[in-house]
Amino acid sequence: MPNDRLPTPLRVLVVAAHPDDIEFGAAGTVARWVGEGTRVRYLLITRGDKGSDDATADAGQLAIVREREQRSAAAELGVEGVDFLDEPDGQVEPSLRLRERITFAIRRFQPEVVMTHDPTVLFVNNEWVNHPDHRAVGMVTVDAVFPTARDPLNFHEHLDAGLQPWKVAELFLWSTNEANELVDIGDTLDRKIAALRCHESQFRTFADTERWLRQTSEELGERAGYRAAEGFRRVMLAR
Ligand SMILES: [Zn+2]
Repeated sequence: MPNDRLPTPLRVLVVAAHPDDIEFGAAGTVARWVGEGTRVRYLLITRGDKGSDDATADAGQLAIVREREQRSAAAELGVEGVDFLDEPDGQVEPSLRLRERITFAIRRFQPEVVMTHDPTVLFVNNEWVNHPDHRAVGMVTVDAVFPTARDPLNFHEHLDAGLQPWKVAELFLWSTNEANELVDIGDTLDRKIAALRCHESQFRTFADTERWLRQTSEELGERAGYRAAEGFRRVMLAR
């Protein structure tokens, strides 16, 4: 049994820039919530069509492969659906157009919790540069949550289409330098790794990635006395 006091929301929407972002950042927590009866949907902003170091790779073909891998990874955890907005990989802009599209998804699914990239992070642990698509998607998603989805005069055409304004209660932000919530994923680390393994096109040798992921998850868990953990910046939004 997990040792933390994580609540069990009814619905969780996970918004990510690329296929495999969710598996690295949040899949252990997603697996827990699905197991507790939470309905989870993924919203992928791109199909990862630039995610190759092979200069001769065909972007259209890569997008097809990566979408399929993402759907397999979601199915592995029992996620109920995956939607793709098909913005161009590597060129996501924090635009009003994208905010409208994410707001629509929030108003349609009505999640209590939205998980996404921490948009404030430029350097992750001073180890690597946070991808510009991650920053853009995180920023637009936060803006869609507050105040856009909540206030009825924003994108009022959604209401004409039968949707209602929606207040998200909490944000869970991954790849953060300011984790204030460690989620106990001791029971679901294996399932996180199984989901990540679905992204076959992204790994030359999955064993190296698995070793790194187990080690970092276990080291993070040690801080709280868990076998393994995922860390989030958890923001509880005022009512
Ligand atoms: Zn990414």
